[in-house]
Parts: sequence; C-alpha cells; structure tokens
Amino acid sequence: MALLMASGTMKNPKGSRPQKDRPRSSEIFERGKRTLVGGVNSPVRAFRAVGGTPLIIDHAKGARLFDVDGREYIDFVCSWGALILGHAPPDIVSAVSDQASRGTSFGMTSPLEIELGEKVTSAIPSVEMVRFVNSGTEAAMSAVRLARAFTQRDVIVKFEGCYHGHSDGFLSEAGSGFATLGISASPGVPQAFASLTLNTPFNDLEALESLFKQHRGKIAAVIIEPVAANMGVVPPAPGFLEGLHAITRKEKSLLIFDEVITGFRLAYGGAQSVYNIDPDLTVMGKIIGGGLPVAAYGGKRNIMEQIAPLGPVYQAGTLSGNPLAMRAGLATLPKLEAPGFYADVNRKTQRLADGLRSALKETNVPGQVNFVGSLLTMFFTERPVRNYADARTSNSARFAAFFQEMLNRGIFIAPSQYEALFVSAAHTDADIDRAIAAARESLASVQGN
Ligand code: PMP
Repeated sequence: MALLMASGTMKNPKGSRPQKDRPRSSEIFERGKRTLVGGVNSPVRAFRAVGGTPLIIDHAKGARLFDVDGREYIDFVCSWGALILGHAPPDIVSAVSDQASRGTSFGMTSPLEIELGEKVTSAIPSVEMVRFVNSGTEAAMSAVRLARAFTQRDVIVKFEGCYHGHSDGFLSEAGSGFATLGISASPGVPQAFASLTLNTPFNDLEALESLFKQHRGKIAAVIIEPVAANMGVVPPAPGFLEGLHAITRKEKSLLIFDEVITGFRLAYGGAQSVYNIDPDLTVMGKIIGGGLPVAAYGGKRNIMEQIAPLGPVYQAGTLSGNPLAMRAGLATLPKLEAPGFYADVNRKTQRLADGLRSALKETNVPGQVNFVGSLLTMFFTERPVRNYADARTSNSARFAAFFQEMLNRGIFIAPSQYEALFVSAAHTDADIDRAIAAARESLASVQGN
C-alpha cells in the first residue's frame, strides 16, 4: 500500500502499523495542501503527531463519522466536545434549517439572542450578564481585556498546559495543538506581550502564591480550565480550586473560569457548579452553540457593564449573536436539562474508563486513565498525571501507534495525547464496548512501541 504522509517531512511514527488504505482521502488531502496551509484549517487536524492521512469527512450522524472513502468511525472527538448530543440531532437540524429560511444573519438584534442569554444566565448563577461571540479564542481574549480594564492591572496568570485559544497573550506553555506540536512560544508574539502572561503549574497552590508575592498588585486575573482538558484530562486536586479562589480574593485579582470545554458538559451549570466555586468571569463555547460557531463570556454585572456600549471596553462582532447559531444553542440546551441526561453520559464514560483500565492491566501496558464526567484521556505513562509536566512523560510514539490501531478498527480518538475523548448522548453502550474491545487489541499490538 502506498502510504501517503500528512506532510512532506513527516514519517509514520516508528513501529506503528500503516493506516488502512483510504485513496480518496489521500487524494483530497494532497489537493488541499496546495491551497490550505498544511491541508487544514486547524493544525491538529493534520495528524502530524500520529502520522498517516488525516480523516477527510463526508458526513456524520449520531456517534458516527463517515469519511470520503466510505469508512465509518465511532467518533470520540465530537467536534472537540461541541457535540454533546452527537452529530446532526434531528431537532437541531430542523431548528437550523427553519432559521435558514428566515434569514441567516441580521446584523441587528433578534429575540433569539436574548432567549439564549437568559438560558445561559439562569444555568450559571455567576454569569449575570453575557456577551456572545464566535469562537472560544475571541471569548477568552475579550474576557482578559475586560479583566485588565476592570482591575487596571496588566499581568495575567495561566496554568502550564491549559489552552485558552490562540490570541497573542495565551501562546506560551499552552496545551491542545500547541502541546501536540511541542512548541512553547509562537513567533509573531512580541516579547512585550508574552511577558505579561505568567505560567504556573496546575494543581500547585504554593507556586501560585509565590507568583503573587513576586508580582503583588500587578495581576489582573488568573484564568484556568477548572478541569484541564487540553493537556489531556487533568482533574483539579481536592482543595485546589477553592485555594485558587481564596488567593484571588485576597489579592483582588479576578478569577476567570475557562469553561469552553467543561461548560454544559460536566453539568448544566458547568464545572463551577460541580466544584461550587463562584468565578468573576466565565468563558464559554462549544456546547452552547449546538455545533455552530458560538462562544460567550459573561460574569458579574458590575464587571460586564464595563463593556461597550455600557462602558469603555471595546469588543464587537459582525456575526455575533448569529441567528442560526442561536437557534442551534436554543434547541440544544433544553435537551441537557432533561432528568438523568448527565448521569447517562457520565455512566457511559465510567464504563469506558473501567474497560480501558482493565485493558491496560491485561496487556501490561503502563498507562493512566484520567476522567471527569464525560471527558477522558488515557496517558501512556507509569505515574499519575496531575499537571503538564506529568502529561509530558507520556510515551508519544506508543500513543501514535495506538491511535492508528484504533483508527484501523473504526474508532476515532483525538489525534494527540494532549486532548480529551468526549462521550456524547449518541454513544450507546455497544459503541463503548466496541471501543474497549478495539483498545484491548490495539494495546496488545503496541506493547513493543
Ligand atoms: N478555551 C478552551 C478551554 C478550549 O478548549 C478552546 C478550544 N478547544 C478554546 C478556549 C478556544 O476555542 P476556539 O477553538 O473556539 O477558538
């Protein structure tokens, strides 16, 4: 089989079995590389960490992706967590198509934005006012601008391995695609900007306290993924979020929860309802848009009132509050409020975690399964993963080989060790069991990697 590589220089990781032949995908990807940078519009989609031809998708339904070669995959990426109901749920499809016929963008306010705003503020009590934007990057960037304006301080603290989108100030020691590509800083970000972001280890209150000592009175905000999901899944240690909250109160800095992944996923009220923390600002995305491009930032009324047009902090958007996206969000959220919704996705994730842990044991492959709610990562490392440094001890060659083995068996997990697997309402117990069986076989064949 002629194995087409995802880039001219990339090799399939050592020892991993080649992907099954997907000639149409290879052809389209090669064609795409002539016009799209790296053949993609977001780096992790190029499969550089795992090798082989990236997936080229034809369509998707429920928990299944179908590629242009007619292959079917059980999808544990679910648009990076946006699709908690799975692909193309009928009610969301009909809401979006109905809206399309009524207008796709008004450039003016519609009642849909107010309705979705009310849904969000009633789901998350700390979010008293909200502003809709189009991506998580935009939301996190705007929240930081607001925090700086409100506190009249410049420095932002983030945690190593957490990802808050690709705006300049966040491109240092970041997770997600940044971790996947193994880079710690991006060219194009002036040193003057980068120096305003301080990184500190996740789950380490002492390190955070000493940062505050060194930069007393200068830290505008601490931003955190309350359950880290962009270095793989790393839960907060008991007391960590409470301690963080207390430090920000004492130092009069704002606490920003980036709930782009955890919002409406760990619970209807997000991670802050699970861990009972009251942040000043919250960044949201993914699920609130029902699979369309929506994100939001929100928080305490006195802070949010600083944003234009009420206040001087400028932020705007041509497509913000887009009616198609608002309809998708409005069709999604009530489904999550149904009794037992989260218990069911969490139960399936527990089943997956149990199955993966026994598969690791049976095959004698050293690994850790971290999971919270319906977020899960299997790390190929012997030691517990509590922060980014631990996550980086994973055997990435073995992960790459495992990824290929799973893909060949029709199971699609994120093509990077530093991402979460997402379980949706559309996954059945049979899907979970198929994934576990595939993992058992895949682990057996990657023992030598
Ligand atoms: N914050 C977090 C926690 C994220 O996981 C992501 C993206 N995965 C972002 C921000 C950025 O969102 P977007 O990709 O929509 O810009």
